[in-house]
Amino acid sequence: MTSPLLEARTITKSYGRGSSRFTALAGVSLAVPAGEALAIVGKSGSGKSTLMHLLALLDTPDTGDLRVSGSDPATMTTAQMGRIRNRDFGFVFQQFFLTPHATVLENVMLPLKIAGIGVRERKLRALAVLEQLELVDKATNKAINLSGGQKQRVVIARALVNRPKVIFADEPTGNLDTNTGRLVENLLFSLNREHGITLVIVTHDPDLAARCDRQIFIRDGREVRSLDYVGAAA
Ligand code: ADP
Ligand code: MG
Repeated sequence: MTSPLLEARTITKSYGRGSSRFTALAGVSLAVPAGEALAIVGKSGSGKSTLMHLLALLDTPDTGDLRVSGSDPATMTTAQMGRIRNRDFGFVFQQFFLTPHATVLENVMLPLKIAGIGVRERKLRALAVLEQLELVDKATNKAINLSGGQKQRVVIARALVNRPKVIFADEPTGNLDTNTGRLVENLLFSLNREHGITLVIVTHDPDLAARCDRQIFIRDGREVRSLDYVGAAA
């Protein structure tokens, strides 16, 4: 029997101390099988990004357990966790900005540099991904000179260059106009369908959520059955 790619068991997370302590996640469990496109849906402040950061090993839960392909990150060294993030995970987060004054190519090569891949190989692989995303003609442009949609495609190129098993995307279309957002969405879903890349997408956009295989709804740090019925069920 194969383990789910990602698993969370009753994880909790609070921020701050004393009277300003705030429980952002109050005990969420979920399993994400390889190949799934999962949407994490909820209003602003409901705990979506916190949940995704924990699943992506960017932060640790206060209580509860995580598993990545059956392994418990709590038993791993920082270096082992870093390797998983670098090799198996790709990140499409608004707060993980591109390095503005580096070129598109340099930005995309960065994860390969961290992985210790030689400069020739880095360049070949980064150019191949840029080609796939129709960005080769921008390779030597500085990231700062791109449009919003181009930047987001470069972020996706950077997320893809290590051929990750899973892409974590936090509001991937949040800052984009409708058409550009649709292009970025199509790109993510074609990676899922054609390459079996697992998607974990945080969004408050119902249309984007509906395109995923499954939606989980978060309200006040807990999973609820549906955001529409929260009021009625309370
Ligand atoms: P969402 O992504 O659904 O908007 P977040 O997971 O970012 O929600 O945040 C959940 C709650 O936790 C919010 O009330 C937010 O203000 C709070 N929070 C998030 N990160 C921190 C932090 N680093 N320090 C203090 N509070 C935080
Ligand atoms: Mg968020």
